[in-house]
Amino acid sequence: MKILAYGIREDEKPFVKEWEQENPEVDVEITDQLLDDETVAMAKGFDGVVVYQQKPYTDTVFEKLDSYGIHNVSLRNVGVDNMNPATVKKYGFKVTNVPVYSPAAIAEFSVTQLMNLLRRTKEYFHKFERGDFRWAPQISQELNQQTVGVIGTGHIGRVAIDIYKGFGAKVIAYDVYHNPELEKEGLYVDTLDELYAKATVVTLHIPLFPSTEHMLNKAAFDKMRDGVFIVNASRGPLIDEQALIDALDSGKVAGAALDVLEDETKVFNHNMVGKNMTYPEFWNLNSRENVLISPHTAFYTNIAVQNMVKFSLSANKDLIETGTSDKLVKFD
Ligand code: NAD
Repeated sequence: MKILAYGIREDEKPFVKEWEQENPEVDVEITDQLLDDETVAMAKGFDGVVVYQQKPYTDTVFEKLDSYGIHNVSLRNVGVDNMNPATVKKYGFKVTNVPVYSPAAIAEFSVTQLMNLLRRTKEYFHKFERGDFRWAPQISQELNQQTVGVIGTGHIGRVAIDIYKGFGAKVIAYDVYHNPELEKEGLYVDTLDELYAKATVVTLHIPLFPSTEHMLNKAAFDKMRDGVFIVNASRGPLIDEQALIDALDSGKVAGAALDVLEDETKVFNHNMVGKNMTYPEFWNLNSRENVLISPHTAFYTNIAVQNMVKFSLSANKDLIETGTSDKLVKFD
């Protein structure tokens, strides 16, 4: 049995090695290249491929894999938004993902960034670098005084809620599906409008669908409290970036922590030093002392990377051996 793993980074290599030792009957080859129209030819002769990339999986990639007799594709990440479901179904591909690799990694990061916003660390850091060690005027806010509106109470949202409760914050939540435990605690509000009206912090933990794209737009910001803080460690297009810029300009939004951006694939996880970067919204947001941008790093912990590598290889092995996996993605 032969598996080709694309886009393997240095930090993933030790976990690939460990998995190979645990599964000596499987031959795993690795490449640091991403899977695209050119590199797909490397997969000839393999039984399955393991992948992780933000850039799109093109229809040509699937056509070529099909022509090589390969129909087992295992993602090391969650999101399947960069592949065309019609193409996947047309050629009879079986795709697995790693739906849960470490919710705490993302939840902890989003809380950390909110704390940085509340304590104005970016401003203090810049002042400190200039040798200005005065406190004022950067008076901060306390997390225990916030009403945190958590949108999406799945794996990540639930861990975030536990952390916020630990800090003594008031938590309210909105989800189309109500988790029974949280329901018992009375955390849910009935509508997004109610959450917007009450929350001093709005944090997103829902997937990107056509129906959730730009859910935080001008109309949504207008319904929020003045001076609200926004946290997005979910997916960039959930927020209309121009509307956020306008809401920051007007003071409606007091600060934003963004681990994801609308157009992030062309910049995040690339070394852009010395390169021309045409992304006006990024430059606008990044220039602000009350906006923290991180390059989609919320997931990036040792535990998460280990789980992404090992769970995806095991899922690919299951597909090859049995034709199915408990991590099979259902494309509706
Ligand atoms: P999950 O599937 O466990 O939970 C998502 C929740 O969103 C579910 O409870 C679902 O009912 C709810 N939901 C779906 N549509 C909704 C809507 N329109 N309105 C309200 N609620 C809705 O997912 P998760 O593991 O908690 O991950 C959440 C998101 O975090 C992922 O979709 C992904 O976009 C993002 N993510 C980001 C990173 C990162 O590094 N920044 C890493 C992993 C995941």
